[in-house]
Amino acid sequence: MEQRDQNRRMAQLLFPHITKTPEDYEAIYPERDLPEGAMVTRIAPSPTGFMHFGNLYGALIDERLAHQSGGVFYLRIENTDSKREVEGAVEVILTSLNAFGLKFDEGATEGEDRGTYGPYRQRDRAELYQTIAKSLVERGMAYPCFCTEEDLQVLHDKQEASGANFGYYGEWAVHANITCEEAEALIAEGKPYVVRFRSPGKDGNRIKYKDLAKGEIEMPENCNDIVLLKSDGIPTYHFAHVVDDHFMRTTHVVRGEEWLSTFPYHLQMFDAIGWKKPAYVHTAHMLKQDGSSKRKLSKRKDPEARLTYYLQEGYPAECVIEYLMTVLNSNFEEWRRKNPDADLNEFRFKAEKMGVAGAVFDIDKLNDISKTVISKMSGEQVYDATAVWAKEYNPEFYALLTRDPAYSKAILSIGRGGKKPRKDFTVWSDVPDYMAFFFEETFQTAYPWPENMSKNDILRVLNEYPSIYDEADDQQTWFNKVKDLTAAMGYAVDMKAYKADPTAFPGSVADISAVLRVAITGRTASPDTYAVMNILGKETVLDRLSKAAAAL
Ligand code: GLU
Repeated sequence: MEQRDQNRRMAQLLFPHITKTPEDYEAIYPERDLPEGAMVTRIAPSPTGFMHFGNLYGALIDERLAHQSGGVFYLRIENTDSKREVEGAVEVILTSLNAFGLKFDEGATEGEDRGTYGPYRQRDRAELYQTIAKSLVERGMAYPCFCTEEDLQVLHDKQEASGANFGYYGEWAVHANITCEEAEALIAEGKPYVVRFRSPGKDGNRIKYKDLAKGEIEMPENCNDIVLLKSDGIPTYHFAHVVDDHFMRTTHVVRGEEWLSTFPYHLQMFDAIGWKKPAYVHTAHMLKQDGSSKRKLSKRKDPEARLTYYLQEGYPAECVIEYLMTVLNSNFEEWRRKNPDADLNEFRFKAEKMGVAGAVFDIDKLNDISKTVISKMSGEQVYDATAVWAKEYNPEFYALLTRDPAYSKAILSIGRGGKKPRKDFTVWSDVPDYMAFFFEETFQTAYPWPENMSKNDILRVLNEYPSIYDEADDQQTWFNKVKDLTAAMGYAVDMKAYKADPTAFPGSVADISAVLRVAITGRTASPDTYAVMNILGKETVLDRLSKAAAAL
């Protein structure tokens, strides 16, 4: 029988149920009608329920490339390994990326898929993969392999003993020339088989490819007859990647650099099948400084490797994105300096400007960005964002915060809006402690009094202050009254004089102010005491002063 007929018979034997052809799918998934230069990108996570910080990093690159070029950003679920799949994982992916402002145009959703290039979950695409595999068998480019795990182990051992390269290739490819009759007999016996790609690669050949992030890379050509379909008819990552990114019309594949080692498989398949290759962006892993060495951010060891960490801590989403942008594009910071208030989306992200080596994750830098960004917000914005965070992550505080919104907003507005705004918060989870003394429920009365003052002097301040306190005083009058009390007690009003000769006084106006602050806030550090007193109101101020006196 002629080889072509053999191949056709083999294809029919392996895939009797497949009636469509690759051409049918070309028609079902036509080239996308997009403007010139528009990029189509995707993330393709496995639904394990765990979102790594690296997932956000990759997704941001995809999202920027697609949306700044007027293209499409979609979500594909790589669920070929059903053992790793957890329920609700798609929801976790969508909600966590959504929380960082990344929105998909198309793909898997919590309900029905959205878009015309689906289904977007790989297990629902079995017929497509099998159609392509069938056509490859027909073209003599794929064949069934009946080797068991044990057979492959024996092969491996022999290769080891003889010093040959490991793998299923050349003379080691036991089933590469299996005939229809042989295959038919084995199938009749109920023997499971996989479908392998017949690699056209030659030992010693090298291939070159220009990766958008890594630049020119050179690798040995693949010679292995890799598995396309596993024995259950479900594809390997390699085959699914090639088929899906072809038929979903992906223009740019952004993925971790761990895929570089198998990259030659993918390039070879695209070429052999005759499909146009997408552009690739292989991203370096984020590293963590660990003592004197660097290592990958570890899902087990580092809480910050988990994407939900940033949400729980209450980092403003835009700060995390802003930080990632500084990591991704070396020219971002300069752009930001020139455009301090511009929307981040106005920055033109370029895959070519990404670093080749892994960036070290720098939480101090993230914190710094976060502090600066929050310091520029209005009290109202801080209130709104804190409320969103607290509702989810600190319901007890949420109840206090939202009990009287005007009161909370007044607190959160202290020291804002000027040239040098306060930098009190790095994350929203800093807010509960900051605001604690404004609520009776969380006001702490440990009273860290100034150590140089006698109990009597402290009591004198607490007892005399109510008679001079007037809620209507402006800041200057308020402070003048504190100074008057200071002078009356023989304490130094003039800080310069006090510093020149501290022994000449029992203390200074700073101590008198500190007594008021400690009595009213329970702490030595707080926002401006005058502002705090105004917000707390006369009744509470007087009540706290007398409580403090009673506690002495
Ligand atoms: N499922 C693969 C992963 O999670 C996707 C890689 C890719 O983007 O192609 O690593």
